[in-house]
Amino acid sequence: MAQIIAIANQKGGVGKTTTAVNLAASLAAAEKRTLLVDLDPQANATSGVGVDAHGLQHTVYHALLGTESAESVRQETALDQLHLLPANPDLIGAEVELISALARESKLKSALKEVVEDYDYILIDCPPSLGLLTINALTASDAVLIPLQCEYYAMEGLSQLVNTIRLIQQELNPDLAIRGILLTMFDSRNNLSHQVSEEIRQHFAAQVFQTIIPRNVRLSEAPSHGLPALLYDISSSGAAAYLALARELIRTEH
Ligand code: ATP
Ligand code: MG
Repeated sequence: MAQIIAIANQKGGVGKTTTAVNLAASLAAAEKRTLLVDLDPQANATSGVGVDAHGLQHTVYHALLGTESAESVRQETALDQLHLLPANPDLIGAEVELISALARESKLKSALKEVVEDYDYILIDCPPSLGLLTINALTASDAVLIPLQCEYYAMEGLSQLVNTIRLIQQELNPDLAIRGILLTMFDSRNNLSHQVSEEIRQHFAAQVFQTIIPRNVRLSEAPSHGLPALLYDISSSGAAAYLALARELIRTEH
């Protein structure tokens, strides 16, 4: 049975998609059967693993609304052990269409039920909001991984996210755990990066992953080639960091 992890932070541009794509690829490279779920209408995780969202008839949108099974929507990728539930901009509509649906918060959970046995890990890339899509991700998940960018205001909005997680725990998903805070875009030559990462570690202690993701231009180039960093440039510091994160995640599994 897969461990389901939502990668969430309503703050934009903090490294959610980069983490979802590269952690998923790294888990797959470690022979873990992995499903990447793109739950963002921007569809960056979809294009990031080389799938052309425009050519798709069925996407995660149909799985959410229950008109297609997750099994029939999923796609293969360049990595044997990595599958994708793709998104396209149609997903914007789901946020509104789900409002009147019965059990609207658990649509993704229901959709994933039929594939959960096929994987070791399911990673969900969330959009930069705390709307119904992110709520669906948190309701479907065992844990949430929160990327934080090493810059001023990194923790801005974090209390709002933690409050949302508490509400989901109370109302919809009592077993939801915070699986960790991940420091991203760390620039070792920049004092601010060091200050921010120390502050976050003081504040959240053991909840912060040991692995830190460095700022690395290969990580920002790889998506335009439709490749995770480990297939684009395995020798890059970015690829190495996400492989280390995958090892840390596997090692600290209960
Ligand atoms: P959104 O909130 O819009 O979904 P996001 O949280 O998913 O954004 P990403 O898309 O992963 O964030 O990253 C934002 C930008 O920063 C992208 O252009 C990405 O390529 C770049 N980026 C992410 N992580 C790194 C890194 N470690 N080093 C260099 N560039 C990075
Ligand atoms: Mg994103």
